[in-house]
Amino acid sequence: MTAPPSPSVVHGAPAQPQDLPATDRLLRHAAVQPLLADHGHTLVADEARVLLAACRAEAVAGTLDRAQAASDALAQALAARIAARLAPRMRPVLNLTGTVIHTNLGRAVLADVALDHVAATLRGPNNLEYDLTTGGRGDRDSLVEDLLCTLTGAEAATVVNNNAAAVVLTLAALAGGREAIVSRGELVEIGGAFRMPDVMAAAGAHMVEVGTTNRTHAQDYARAITERTAVLLKVHTSNYAVQGFTAAVDEEALAPIAHAHGLALVTDLGSGALVDMSRWGLPREPLPQDMLGAGCDVVTFSGDKLLGGPQAGLIVGRQDAIARIRRHPLKRALRLSKLPLAALEATLRLYLQPERLTQALPTLRLLTRPLADIEAVARTVQPVLQAALGEGWRVVPVALQSQIGSGSLPIDRLPSAGLAIAPQTPRKGRALDALAAALRALPVPVIGRVADDRLLLDLRGLEDAHALTSQLHALVVAP
Ligand SMILES: *Cc1c(COP(=O)(O)O)cnc(C)c1O
Repeated sequence: MTAPPSPSVVHGAPAQPQDLPATDRLLRHAAVQPLLADHGHTLVADEARVLLAACRAEAVAGTLDRAQAASDALAQALAARIAARLAPRMRPVLNLTGTVIHTNLGRAVLADVALDHVAATLRGPNNLEYDLTTGGRGDRDSLVEDLLCTLTGAEAATVVNNNAAAVVLTLAALAGGREAIVSRGELVEIGGAFRMPDVMAAAGAHMVEVGTTNRTHAQDYARAITERTAVLLKVHTSNYAVQGFTAAVDEEALAPIAHAHGLALVTDLGSGALVDMSRWGLPREPLPQDMLGAGCDVVTFSGDKLLGGPQAGLIVGRQDAIARIRRHPLKRALRLSKLPLAALEATLRLYLQPERLTQALPTLRLLTRPLADIEAVARTVQPVLQAALGEGWRVVPVALQSQIGSGSLPIDRLPSAGLAIAPQTPRKGRALDALAAALRALPVPVIGRVADDRLLLDLRGLEDAHALTSQLHALVVAP
């Protein structure tokens, strides 16, 4: 709720409660008529009542200025309240943190084709579960299954709400009430409440840990297999790296062990790159197609990490395993809604033309952005930002390191460029906090990061300098 106008200084005699108009009278005021015409009676009357109640309380306390009890002032305050009430809470921001796929900032930015497809298919009815060939009931998975099979080489595919759901559903369907064996080196926490042991418990699978934090061997898995075992689980350690004296068993070595015992080999890849990004000089991530080729029965991955699509959990693998996953009652609870499904279909279709990806898919476009472009943006923004901040601050171009983010490739850094902002005279951290807050208060909030007593803006995330420079006139840093 927005606070009512609260005068810090009361000039002359404070207003009395009886100076305030009744709600009806305020609603008849000329200046309120446009509000009623635009927004209807309900919202305007509700906000007027709340406003007048707050003013009345201030008047009783003797802290309401007479000028603010006047009908004109009240009508203005009412308009401000209504604007604040109608302002969206979910807003676009400029992600200048240097983390391209930022979990707190909406992860992957959708491609234009994905947004267009959402708008085109969701403005009216669509064939979400309708087979246009037979005129009978269809299956929403079929809208993307072919594409996923083509792109990953899988026999079958299904999709759910996110990768966490994909893991839960896969384990529930394939290992519910039975045991799943996992290496102690792969009991990852992704953040929030996603911790592999908890996820397995929630799926009703009994976790059997093998090996140690740094080393797990094929024999560790083999020895742990009993008649209760259903799944060997591999988890891609996407947000950390164990280095030094380490050993892990890869899918290729695990598949024969799993299959000799009639078990399913499941890999949770987390971030799902669908193309080898080393073709663009980026670090190589394991691909679902590699995992299936190595003998995995099921591979799960996210739609909104490296894949660059909407939040979704993609499950690809062998026909029989996917069929069991699809039949599980949780599938219905976790299924993907039509909105991300439309975005996912269009995003996946882009992968049929990999040469287009670094232009059409924002995630890959940002990750492959030439350094010279980023430096050019830094040179454009620097003088404008310096002028907006004035003499108290120093804005200098700097070399930076971006990261991919969202649990992908945790140790890899991409050379980038940006601006470092520091107060001219060293002050306490407060100054940087005030600056960060001022940037967040811009019409399109700007999110940077503070490091080494400077506020850093990594401009890899700013494709159009104008999006930043055009709003800097509104920048006001608290002293
Ligand atoms: C990100 C991640 C998940 C969770 O995926 P969401 O799409 O965020 O639900 C699960 N496992 C791994 C290994 C991950 O990296």
